[in-house]
Amino acid sequence: MYLIKKAHIYAPEDQGTQDVLIGGGQILKIAGDLPAEEDYGVEVIDGSGKVLMPGLIDAHVHILGGGGEGGAKTRTPEIMLTDIITGGVTTVVGCLGTDGCTRTMSSLLAKAKGLEEEGITAYVYTGSYQVPVRTLTGNIMDDIILLEKVVGTGEIAISDHRSSQPSKKEFARIVADTRVGGILSGKAGLVNIHMGDGENRLKFLRYVLKKTEIPASNMLPTHINRSRALMEDGIDYARTLGGYIDLTTSSDPDFLDPDEVKASTGLKMALDAGVLADHVTFSSDGQGSLPVFGPGGEFVGLGVGKVASLYREMRDAVLTDQVPLTDALRAVTSNPAALLKLAKKGKIFEGADADLVLAEKDNLRIHTVMAKGVVMIRAGQVLAKGTFEH
Ligand code: ZN
Repeated sequence: MYLIKKAHIYAPEDQGTQDVLIGGGQILKIAGDLPAEEDYGVEVIDGSGKVLMPGLIDAHVHILGGGGEGGAKTRTPEIMLTDIITGGVTTVVGCLGTDGCTRTMSSLLAKAKGLEEEGITAYVYTGSYQVPVRTLTGNIMDDIILLEKVVGTGEIAISDHRSSQPSKKEFARIVADTRVGGILSGKAGLVNIHMGDGENRLKFLRYVLKKTEIPASNMLPTHINRSRALMEDGIDYARTLGGYIDLTTSSDPDFLDPDEVKASTGLKMALDAGVLADHVTFSSDGQGSLPVFGPGGEFVGLGVGKVASLYREMRDAVLTDQVPLTDALRAVTSNPAALLKLAKKGKIFEGADADLVLAEKDNLRIHTVMAKGVVMIRAGQVLAKGTFEH
């Protein structure tokens, strides 16, 4: 058992300074002053001068590796546990990507299971960019209903030269099947949608909301910040139709494409434009392939997107773009938890899973990370390593 003393809790809403008792993988008690019963093996963690936040949720990670667009040698490697926890992330949703041929659902499920065994929480989407969607059991609904870890479909590519160019009706059918699969299994039934830079932008999502009874909460379009035009369309989609939008964090902030919007800035733009704070999420696109630039901005080769960029953009939103900590945190905790229907994740409350991040109050540097009540990082030192990390 652990007792975190005198931390300023952002749950993500500001709950002031409190003590938090943790045991059995859960948050047992939150109160102003809890006694440290050392006889019962309670270990005290000093939270003074620190903020306590929910563990981050990254709803779009190529846990198995992605890429491959430059030939087989550009397929990116699998993610390691420390790539995830060092960014304060304690829950991931794994996805395939452009390549639904050499990357398979069975491997994706096995990888998610492995990450779970290593101590974090992991789910997956069924399918890849491709339509018709390649599934494990034969169709979307069966995958969601029968496979515990499958919480939705994705990333389905639209408005992109790499997509299968589905019709809007085919797209609506995918969302419908995913929604019903979710209803029948008590899961989210969320479709994660890869947005390319095609001119149709969010047209298909508007079609679903206008022509069907499906609510906006079953669709999460991602990479919305890839261009100014898409960012503006995303803001309009969220404001006028109550849509949800996801901003990608993994691009190198020093070498952003001139048309790309930094995720932290995109959040500020959306909030200033009147988008509700619970309608914006961040995800990393971690482990996807990314161009790497030299000091002069010249292309030097390919690298791998980092899950830790999720935390960086949340922190930059607060420290650089002046977004309140509560709103910035929502984008990486309670908002994805709500869309993914993860009832015990993304918030700090009694009975929630003990997925927690303790960070320095002034610069938000990560001090301690806990996943399901186990300390993974302590005083900045990584304690938990993946099976092949030493
Ligand atoms: Zn994508």
